[in-house]
Amino acid sequence: MRGDILVVDRTVYYPGIGVSSPDCGSLLLDDGTRLGVLGGVWLEHGRLGHRVDINAGRLAIGDEVTVKVDSMQRYLRMRTHTALHIIALAFPFAIVGGQVGPGRGHIDFKVDHTAMSTTLLQHQVHRLATQDLPVDVGWREPTKLASDERVEQFTWPQARDAIRVVGLGNFEVQACDGLHVRNTSEIGNVTINGIVPMGNDQVRVKMSLTEMESFPFLAHASPHPST
Ligand SMILES: [Zn+2]
Repeated sequence: MRGDILVVDRTVYYPGIGVSSPDCGSLLLDDGTRLGVLGGVWLEHGRLGHRVDINAGRLAIGDEVTVKVDSMQRYLRMRTHTALHIIALAFPFAIVGGQVGPGRGHIDFKVDHTAMSTTLLQHQVHRLATQDLPVDVGWREPTKLASDERVEQFTWPQARDAIRVVGLGNFEVQACDGLHVRNTSEIGNVTINGIVPMGNDQVRVKMSLTEMESFPFLAHASPHPST
């Protein structure tokens, strides 16, 4: 323990990178005690950990704990994140920001708010998402992506030997470290909740997985995460 941080040698948690929020879940001790994880992954000086609510005296160095990820929340994030890629295809303007949560998210674009109506974007997203596009993740040399302006929006360290990229069917490749489903058919129905002017020639496209409108409790952590 380091304060309220339980240092671990490895974890299955997605740490949350860029606009993507981290996994949530719990840690299970040998005696059956389940500890809620507060926040995602703690990372400092190359060490991993999870912030938990426990007295340090209950654990000793070398004790084994089981890291459990809330798989329902993870899958909601995967579907939401992939849906945002679909929106980026349907709304082809420069991306300047965004956020991915379990079932809801948004992307900020550099464009005038009259570029497209919410109704048309909704139609385009539905058309693309229902094409059952395979989602391919791979690696590319940074120099081979240099001419792709859609990639330049991301602040990748130039020293990296390879950039993780994602492609949807035959559509363009985008640099991304996020979590994706394997096929767009897994996304389900997407609701465009608005194209909101943000000033400075920026708009925010807000979206949700359609079931979130009927079952908002899905956005909260499951009581029994899976390992
Ligand atoms: Zn992605």
